[in-house]
Amino acid sequence: MTERAERMAVLLDGKAVSEKVKAEIKTTIEALIKDGKRPPCLAVILVGEDPASQIYVRNKVRDCEETGIISKKLILSESTGESELLSVINGLNADDAVDGILVQMPLPKHIYERTVVEAIAPSKDVDAFHPVNVGNIFTGFGTFAPCTPSGILKLLDEYGISVSGKNCVVVGRSNIVGKPMAILLLQRNGTVTICHSKTKSLSEHTKNADILVVATGKAGLINGGMVKEGAVIVDVGMNRVSGKLVGDCDFPSCEAKASYITPVPGGVGPMTRAVLLCNTLKAYTNR
Ligand code: NAP
Repeated sequence: MTERAERMAVLLDGKAVSEKVKAEIKTTIEALIKDGKRPPCLAVILVGEDPASQIYVRNKVRDCEETGIISKKLILSESTGESELLSVINGLNADDAVDGILVQMPLPKHIYERTVVEAIAPSKDVDAFHPVNVGNIFTGFGTFAPCTPSGILKLLDEYGISVSGKNCVVVGRSNIVGKPMAILLLQRNGTVTICHSKTKSLSEHTKNADILVVATGKAGLINGGMVKEGAVIVDVGMNRVSGKLVGDCDFPSCEAKASYITPVPGGVGPMTRAVLLCNTLKAYTNR
C-alpha cells in the first residue's frame, strides 16, 4: 500500500448498504405474502409538476416495486386547493389498505405545508414530520424517525462506527435533517453541537468533531482545513455545480483528513430512500 492509499478515508457506501436494507425488506415481504397476508402499501401524493419532485416520486415508486411494497401514486394538478388535498389525505388516513402516506414537498405556494403535514395520521406519517412524531423523537419514544437522519445512523451502524462519547457536530438545523439528526445523535450518547448560518467561527466547531454531519445546501462549505484528522464525515448536501451533483464538503481535501466519508452521490441519498421503505414496513407492522 502506498503512503497515499494508507491515508485514504473509507467510503461510507450508502448505495451498497441501501441495497442490503432493501433486500431484507423484500425477504420480509415475501414471507408475509407466503403467510397469506397483504403486502404493505405506501401512498405518495404529488401536487403539481415540479420536475425534481416528479423524479423523487418516480424513484420512491420504483423502490417500492423492487421490494414488494404496493405503491399508490396520486398525482394532483398544480391548481389543487388545500381543502381538496386535505380530503384526499383524510381518505387515505381512513383507508385500511394504506399503511404509509407521503406528500412530496415542496407544495405549490397556495397550500400551507404545515396544515398538510398535520393532516396525516401520525401512525401513517412515514416521513415523521407530524408534530406528534417530532415530539416522540425528542422524548425517544418514536416509531418513526425522519428518513435522512435515520438513514445516516443505519450507515454508521453498518460500518461499526459508534456515537457514544464522541463529539458530534451537525452543520444545519432544518426540521428535516439538522435538528432530528442532532437529537438522534444525542440519544446515542454523542456530545452534540449544532451549527447554522449565524454560527461564529464555524471551523472552531467543525475541527472539534469526531463525527461531522453537514446539511446546508452550500457546495464546498467545508474543506479539509476545517476538519479533524480521522473524523467521520457525513455529507448530506446535494448541490448542482456546473451540471454535476456535489455535496457540501470539498471531497478531495476532506477525504484526505477523514477516516470515513460519504460520497455524493451514493452516500446519504440512497439511505434516505431505503429508510422510507423501512418506515412503511414499520407502519404496516404496527397496525
Ligand atoms: P435547509 O432547510 O435549507 O437548511 C440549511 C441549513 O444550513 C440551515 O439551518 C442553515 O442555517 C444552514 N446553513 C446555511 N448556510 C450555512 C453556513 N454558511 N454555515 C453554517 N450553516 C449554514 O436545507 P435541508 O433541507 O436541511 O437540506 C440541506 C442539504 O441537504 C441540501 O443540499 C439538500 O438538498 C440536502 N438533502 C439531502 C438529502 C439526502 O437524502 N441526501 C435529504 C435532505 C436534504 P440557518 O438555519 O441559520 O438558515
